[in-house]
Amino acid sequence: MNPSADRKLTLIGAGLAGALLATLLARRGWSVDVYEKRPDPRNKGYEGGRSINLALAERGLDALRRAGLQDVVMAQAVMMRGRLVHPQDGGPPTLQPYGLDDSEVIWSVHRGRLNIALLDAAEAAGARIHFNQRLDSVDFERRVALFVNDHDRTARPQPFEALIGSDGAGSGLREAMRPHVALEERFQPLGHGYKELEIPPAADGGFRTDPNALHIWPRGGYMCIALPNTEHTFTVTLFLPMQGEPSFRTLPDLTAAREFFQRDFTDAMPLMPDFDADWTNNPVSGLGTLHLQRWRMDGRAVLLGDAAHAMVPFHGQGMNCAFEDCLALDRHIASAPDFETAFAGFEAERRPNAEAIQAMALENYVEMRDSVDDPDYLVQRALEQALARRHPGHFVPRYSMVSFTCVPYATAFERGKLQRAILVEATRGCATLQDVDLANADALVRERLPPLPAVPA
Ligand code: FAD
Repeated sequence: MNPSADRKLTLIGAGLAGALLATLLARRGWSVDVYEKRPDPRNKGYEGGRSINLALAERGLDALRRAGLQDVVMAQAVMMRGRLVHPQDGGPPTLQPYGLDDSEVIWSVHRGRLNIALLDAAEAAGARIHFNQRLDSVDFERRVALFVNDHDRTARPQPFEALIGSDGAGSGLREAMRPHVALEERFQPLGHGYKELEIPPAADGGFRTDPNALHIWPRGGYMCIALPNTEHTFTVTLFLPMQGEPSFRTLPDLTAAREFFQRDFTDAMPLMPDFDADWTNNPVSGLGTLHLQRWRMDGRAVLLGDAAHAMVPFHGQGMNCAFEDCLALDRHIASAPDFETAFAGFEAERRPNAEAIQAMALENYVEMRDSVDDPDYLVQRALEQALARRHPGHFVPRYSMVSFTCVPYATAFERGKLQRAILVEATRGCATLQDVDLANADALVRERLPPLPAVPA
């Protein structure tokens, strides 16, 4: 479709995906209006209210590069080379590198600052962002959307041509579409929640522990993680069942929480002098996976990002996937003859990939909290890295395909299954990599794995 100044696109939500998509569309020449329920974070401070930092990987970086935002974002990112696993016995932590070298790393970025950089870029590209405007309801027949300012209760009807829902897991557009389209919506709660705590800077202003890693304290059914921030702090997140033993329910007060941390996260406790205040003041939030069979309503509305496929955060891919959605939708809108074709093509391309990363994110929770210190896992991982070096472009660890390439998630998921079977088979009865018959493992790779297809630019 040819963009033109009199053909409007209306985006709901100026979070991570909304602000990026507005930039891409406005640069193509579309007239773009974005309605965001919160106030402008550049005036009032960021009111995100959750996950202060995020892991940015290649897919997200690719999208930022295409939007010309790589330099501004990366200037404030902290490199994470791998998982630094803290054992329960308080012994020294061990680093499990994510990739083969420093070209294969992920980055910790600040959610609020990233959002602000994206808002600036969207406005510089010509998009108009309307803050304090919550989508309340939609009259799809007349193509009029109603926005409400939750501060002064004023309501504003706006005509639209097509609505794009980048309004997150609790999407107002999805709710408005529900009576008109069979979305086949299913929310699968994880049964685990999370609470955020903080490791502040040391007395000399530096980091209290290694900044270039994602710290994990795996404890079987639950875990803590910590990601570094440029202010020399770490955001610590406890992931724990909501019920059972132990769970958020069995930690009803500060005394119980302190005892739990002193027992299970012994080496983390001294790093958190503000534990009492953080535990008391920070909420417990739930987690889950949102499944939708339909993301669109003919040419009038489409969903993307968390609004279409919210996932559990254990692969650090929700934002990365949402950014990939933005590139895809922008591309489909540019090449299709009308919005209906564009939205259908977008959904057909992205839904299988979203489903694949949702499944891998759930699997990664078990790996992070349970397997990273398991002997079978460790020998399989050692073989995985050996095979990655011996068969470049052929045997690529699943984590690497997801985090360091733009290979479609669905391809990574399917190849990951083949590769896992090879690792399990080749390491059976082996305690270390030295015990593995590498010639046999090489033969399995050649026999079962075709070369990884190139990803179109
Ligand atoms: P959001 O970022 O939620 O943006 C939605 C926007 O829409 C918001 O600004 C909201 O105010 C606005 N809005 C909502 N309703 C309305 C309405 N009715 N009208 C107008 N505006 C509205 N992802 C990663 O890639 N890496 C990570 O390390 C990572 N860690 C995470 C850790 C945790 C604990 C959690 C919960 C998530 C994590 N994620 C991570 C996932 C990531 O946060 C989301 O996938 C990402 O924010 C999705 O972007 P979005 O733009 O679709 O939604």
